[in-house]
Amino acid sequence: MEIRIIKGTNQIGGCITEITSKNAKILIDFGNDLEDTKESFELDGLTYGKSKYNAVFITHSHIDHIGLIEKINEDIPVYVEESSLKIYNITCDFCGEDKLTKKINTFKIYDTIEINNIKVTPYRVDHSSYNSCMFVIECEDKKILHTGDFRLHGRKKEETLNNLKRIGKVDILITEGTSLSRNILEYETEERLEKEALEYMKKYDQVFIMHSSTNIDRTISFTKSALKTGKNYILDLFTYSLSKVVNMNIKVDYKRIFVWKPLRYYLKDDKFKSEYMDFDTSSFFGKKYAMNVKVSMLEDIKKLKEKGLITNACLIYSMWDGYIEKEEKLRNFIDEIKNMGIEFKKLHTSGHTDINSMIKLNKIVSPDKTIIIHTENRKKGKNVFNGIVDLNDNEIFKL
Ligand SMILES: [Zn+2]
Ligand SMILES: [Zn+2]
Repeated sequence: MEIRIIKGTNQIGGCITEITSKNAKILIDFGNDLEDTKESFELDGLTYGKSKYNAVFITHSHIDHIGLIEKINEDIPVYVEESSLKIYNITCDFCGEDKLTKKINTFKIYDTIEINNIKVTPYRVDHSSYNSCMFVIECEDKKILHTGDFRLHGRKKEETLNNLKRIGKVDILITEGTSLSRNILEYETEERLEKEALEYMKKYDQVFIMHSSTNIDRTISFTKSALKTGKNYILDLFTYSLSKVVNMNIKVDYKRIFVWKPLRYYLKDDKFKSEYMDFDTSSFFGKKYAMNVKVSMLEDIKKLKEKGLITNACLIYSMWDGYIEKEEKLRNFIDEIKNMGIEFKKLHTSGHTDINSMIKLNKIVSPDKTIIIHTENRKKGKNVFNGIVDLNDNEIFKL
């Protein structure tokens, strides 16, 4: 058997893992590089030429893991967890990207899929994208664990730990190492973040929240803390549409929880409107509320200000700091918000594993060999994991 990391031994995002047995060849993840919006990556036997791959498996719906699946040759089956596929399709609709035309096979977590002599079993893993999976790959008497992106400080921490114990010892661990370059020993937990959010909810009458809508854990943290302080909660249309495909237990009742249809979506075509906007909302939600906002909602926020619905407000930025440095539009949005007298706060915890959790992972699955991907500093993994295989992109590791 052979393992090749086509991309990802020295970059965060856009990782592609290839596993080849005597009679099957599979890939795990096929998404965009974080810097690349042009989708320029091509692979012989996958996106062009005679197909060499028997299947492609996707760990979760973040664009750096799923974003290029449309390019895969028609005759190669692509497997995506069922909610993750719905989330990806909704994200495409809202971001103006084309919907997938390629037929995708969906799978349920914990159901094993057999591709010739390779058995792939998806397990739920804690990450900032709903129903993220890690894969156990069994083939030729070897057991490989591919974690995908993961962490052990979110709402699925216990389930993930139990899953790792069920999986037990593996021969090869292929793991993400995002935090090795950021050198973070321990991130704060999602529960801790919810407590801190509560303080802002108490202090301010209006709390605007900027977070990634696919991070359902975070939506829950903010909704719970808002409701606890007697505030109403307003989901933006995108977050609301996603919440309907997942089991979030948050019911829009127009008493405490409302939906806001941002102005920009009224410019969308009729198909979009009939699919996502064909329901009545109430725009009366009082003066004490928390609300999800996006960069594209500046005009909406100005409208609220004109109506006298912003009096003592803050904006909580709950995403990775790096986006502020990278994205000019985001910086301009934050400046405009500050100019409106809205205070700017940051409250975030990562979707990626901290170093202490990597140590836990290593202890539980006790791998003979470890390959680190999704990192800019895999060398640092030497102090954390057993038997580091120092692979460069495209080098082949034979088992
Ligand atoms: Zn990623
Ligand atoms: Zn991710």
